[in-house]
Amino acid sequence: MVETLGTISNSTTGAERDARRTIARSDRPADPLLARFVDGLERALVHAGYASLPEPGADVNVVLHPVDVAKPRPYRRKAAPTFVIAIGALPRPTDDPLRTGYPILVRALANLCVLVSSTSDGLAVQFVTLEQGRYTVGPGLSDDELFAQVAQRVEPLASSRLVIANRFVTDLPESLWDGDEQTRGMLQAGRNLDALALLPSPFPLEEILSSRDLRHVKLLYGIGGLSYGNLSTRYRGPLRGVPDPDGPVYWMSASGGDKAELRAVGEDILLVRGYDRAGDTMVLSVPPAVTPRRVSVDAIEHFMIYGEHPNVGAIVHVHGWIDGTTSTEVNYPCGTVQLASSVAELVRRQPDPSRAVVGLRNHGLTITGHSLDEIFDRVGEQIVPRVPMV
Ligand SMILES: [Zn+2]
Repeated sequence: MVETLGTISNSTTGAERDARRTIARSDRPADPLLARFVDGLERALVHAGYASLPEPGADVNVVLHPVDVAKPRPYRRKAAPTFVIAIGALPRPTDDPLRTGYPILVRALANLCVLVSSTSDGLAVQFVTLEQGRYTVGPGLSDDELFAQVAQRVEPLASSRLVIANRFVTDLPESLWDGDEQTRGMLQAGRNLDALALLPSPFPLEEILSSRDLRHVKLLYGIGGLSYGNLSTRYRGPLRGVPDPDGPVYWMSASGGDKAELRAVGEDILLVRGYDRAGDTMVLSVPPAVTPRRVSVDAIEHFMIYGEHPNVGAIVHVHGWIDGTTSTEVNYPCGTVQLASSVAELVRRQPDPSRAVVGLRNHGLTITGHSLDEIFDRVGEQIVPRVPMV
């Protein structure tokens, strides 16, 4: 089953992706600062090749969504690939962009939150991403220069492609319904991850959103709640009764949920046994009698790494940092092909890809190893909770 909610669909055809990308605004803001910013960003994106639409229809790629920061209105997409930028005006730059911007991002159902304020030295623009990344453009720039830089930050994120659809097939061999030695190892590894206490979400989604909007957010972002980090371990055993996989097979933690309690197969831990490229969908083998949970949005990244490096036996992702780590150049959103490819490329460039530590800009680390134990033994103690934001 491919998950859909109402008219929202996660599928985009190749032809749609190749067509000229479009932009529209959800509203004409009355606030002069917001109007100046939205006009400027729209101009810069048109200059970067986007076509501007008078109204945001179902097929629009990017929506500029001006909001009242005190009461952000949700923007409900007709299609999941639409990238929504919530834009709010502040009287001055905030000292705590995460605490100010993250609830706006989530309430507006946006993919990115942009907070603009006017200073004596020109506009200051603060970004907050879904992965809790935050960084600033300006002040000290002319408007033209500022909008060009903002567009440069926004465009790669807006054009990245999510692979968050799941197809559940109830063909998991019965011998694996209660897991195996590896899934039992994941329970301990999940506890290690939990013990690192890396950026526990300061904003429980349930407190910020209505249940309707929570459902929208979960489908949209492919998350089962905001819980950070994930882990996986390669499955090397037989798979009787399952079609020959055309790529790596691995156990991976579910999206969201409590990483310290990775027990139930099909719910806390999923067996990933394929990636349907045409539908941008991960294929999961599950036992027949469970209501399966979605696999972590980073499943596509792990798929690429396992596929390329037969010696990688386990992968851990944390929202923490190790000094001196090389990082991706762009902070692509979680669950996109672009994030997965740029992480896979950094892993490839390491002296030993099977024991690699790579950085995801403004986000965290992906660590490969021969096993989960080997990863925690090697680097567990070096990880610090503070991710540099640049
Ligand atoms: Zn992450």
